[in-house]
Parts: sequence; structure tokens; C-alpha cells
Amino acid sequence: NNKYDYLIVGSGLFGSVFAQQMSENGKSCLVIEKRSHIGGNVYCESIEGINVHKYGPHIFHTNDKAIWDYVNSFVSLNHFIYSPLANFKDRLFNLPFNMNTFYQLWKISDPEQASIKIADQVANSGISNPENLEEQAICMVGSEIYETFIKGYTEKQWGRKATELPKSIIKRLPVRYTYNNNYFNDRYQGIPIGGYNKLIEGLLRGVEVKTNVDFIKKRKELSSVADYIIYTGKIDEFFDFKYGHLEYRSLRFKHEYLNRENFQGVAAINFTERNVPFTRIVEHKHFEFGKQKGTVITKEYPQEWIPGVEAYYPINDRYNSERFKKYWELAKLEDKVVFGGRLAEYKYYDMHQVIASALSKAKTLLQLS
Ligand code: FAD
Repeated sequence: NNKYDYLIVGSGLFGSVFAQQMSENGKSCLVIEKRSHIGGNVYCESIEGINVHKYGPHIFHTNDKAIWDYVNSFVSLNHFIYSPLANFKDRLFNLPFNMNTFYQLWKISDPEQASIKIADQVANSGISNPENLEEQAICMVGSEIYETFIKGYTEKQWGRKATELPKSIIKRLPVRYTYNNNYFNDRYQGIPIGGYNKLIEGLLRGVEVKTNVDFIKKRKELSSVADYIIYTGKIDEFFDFKYGHLEYRSLRFKHEYLNRENFQGVAAINFTERNVPFTRIVEHKHFEFGKQKGTVITKEYPQEWIPGVEAYYPINDRYNSERFKKYWELAKLEDKVVFGGRLAEYKYYDMHQVIASALSKAKTLLQLS
């Protein structure tokens, strides 16, 4: 007889939501986490009373009331609305592309004139069958918005020319003919009051957690402590990289404490020029309307991923998708292991999506047990 019903590998949102659901239903869980802290990539580090989003800025947004209520039952979310700016050659513009942006760019205040301008640029491009990201974007928003806001930013982000990137990266480019700087269209949006750690702590209340424990290193002894394993680490690592590494794009964050109250007046400014090495500057206190004396800013530099470096964005090209499929076939044969979350499913998940996925996996398993 094993000691626990579930061994949960990883204390990110997937592992924590799963653990919460299981313990609420009387199942015993052990969560192990290889980092020195819980929370995965939503973890915040407190610096001088400011919650610093250590692995990149996180804004919670969803259209699903049940998910919103679920999160709010562990921590209250504030009324933060994400309205980043773009800096291009030291000029500031509102995002996402809306009437404010068009006025700043062209001094056009009439929505109809703005839409005619964009439609003309799309028509003049002569592109009917876009074959790469550049052509896809120009077809959607015209050449000027593309050159000012998309080209440099995207090329930095992915480390490749926009003409060499697949068009599938850009599926939609929302353009609004209203003066509305709210980045997301979702009905619900906010930041946990007191930071994301409060959410994770709430989810894991009463659950046994061990940090600084790497499943891969202690696999033999850990495999027999529970009836089931919920694995949220990298799928290729679970199978000893049998088919090679799945590739990622990585990021480097340079955090800086500044002895001034307000550095940029907004949570995020995107730097859209190719020759500025970082993609954005985040000023964390603004997520929580902070009034602290100092401030913390973070410059975000995209970088190549190599094994050993933090993995952020999966590369969903053909090569990696096919490799992932082979790993997923192996995963299906593991009847006592559930693979979930962004690293195990090799998938970009927003927070509300990963929560929904963990809730649904937990529900299925509870029905079976
Ligand atoms: P993770 O948070 O990565 O958790 C996995 C955990 O497993 C980690 O803690 C890891 O250390 C641990 N682990 C891995 N291997 C092992 C092992 N062998 N042994 C023990 N532990 C292990 N979403 C939004 O909704 N809004 C946003 O604004 C947003 N911004 C983002 C910004 C960036 C830069 C990035 C990269 C992502 C952003 N996301 C955002 C997505 C969000 O981060 C994810 O949805 C979420 O973190 C996924 O949770 P997870 O549990 O799948 O993975």
C-alpha cells in the first residue's frame, strides 16, 4: 500500500489546482517542487514590499465566470486593467491597436478614416496569399502598423526574421476603432491582492509540500510513494530525452530596484524597435496600485534556449510538434501517470486555461476512483 493517493510533481498552477481538488475530495497528496519556492512561473518575490513577478508579468484574465469565482475563492483579485504602451523611437503609443494609437500615429480621429487608411495599406501591399509572419501581419493591419509595432518586437522575441517565421504565430491582430486601451477582451481581469503567492498558498493549504526535490533525480524512491503521479515537468525529460530535446524560446529578466516612487507610470512598456535589446520594461508596483517609496523595474530580454536554461515558450514548428507527438504516444502508455500543464503538454497555456485543464483532469480522475 502506497502512502499517498497522488504524488504531484510541480507546484505551478496545474499541480496546485489539482492538489486542491484532490484534497478537497479526501485524497491524500504529496506535492514536490524542484525549485526552492512554490508557484511555478506565477511566483512573486517581495522586494521592499513590492510583489515582483519573477518569471514575467502575469495578468489574470478570463471569460469564464466559474474560473473567476474559483480563483476569487482563494484570493481576491483587484480591478487592474492591462493597458501597456509601446515605445518606438522614443515616441509613446497606446496598445492594443485602437483609435488612440491611430491618432498618435496619423493624427486621425475619425474611426472611418482610420479603417480606410488601414484597408488601403492592406490593398497596396498586394499580398493575397501570405506565406510568412510578415505577410500575414501586413495583410491584417497594413504596412505602417506592422513596421512600427510588430516587426522589430517579433524579430527580437523569436530571434529570427519575420519573413522566416511561420504565419501561424499571428492568428489574430485585434484592431479596434474605439478609444479603448484595455489589452484583453475578456470579461474578467485582475491581479491577486497581495500577489500570486497568496493564490498558490490558498490552493495548497493543508497539502503536504516539499520544495527542492527533483522528481527526475529521485525517481526510483518517489515512484512508489503514491498510487498515481501527476507530472507537470518537461515531458521529454520524463522519458530521458529519448527522442531528443523539445525546443523552447527563453527569456532573461533583469530586475532593478530604484529609489524613486514612479518610474514609468504604467505596468508595462513594449519596446518595439529591433535595436533595443529588451522587449519590454515592467514596473511591478502598478499591478497592485502600489504606493511604496521605491520601485522595481524589470527589463525582459528574449534569448536562445539551450538545455539547462529556463524554458518559456514552446516552439510550435513542425520539427518540435512531431517530436512532441512521439513523446505523447509514450505518455499514453503510462497508466499511472497523468501529464498536465505547459511543460508536460508542451503547450502555451494562459493561467485560466491551465486552471481549467487541471480542474477537468481532477474531475475525470475523481469520477473514475
Ligand atoms: P509552471 O508554472 O511552469 O509549473 C511547473 C512546475 O513544475 C515548476 O514550478 C517547476 O519547477 C516544477 N517542476 C518541473 N520539473 C520538475 C521536477 N522534475 N521535479 C519537481 N518539480 C518540477 N498567463 C496568463 O494568463 N496571463 C499572463 O499575463 C501570462 N504571462 C506570462 C508571461 C510569460 C513570460 C510566460 C512565459 C507565461 C505567461 N503566462 C501568462 C502563462 C502562465 O505562466 C502559465 O499558464 C502557468 O505558469 C502554467 O502553469 P504550469 O503549472 O503548467 O507550469
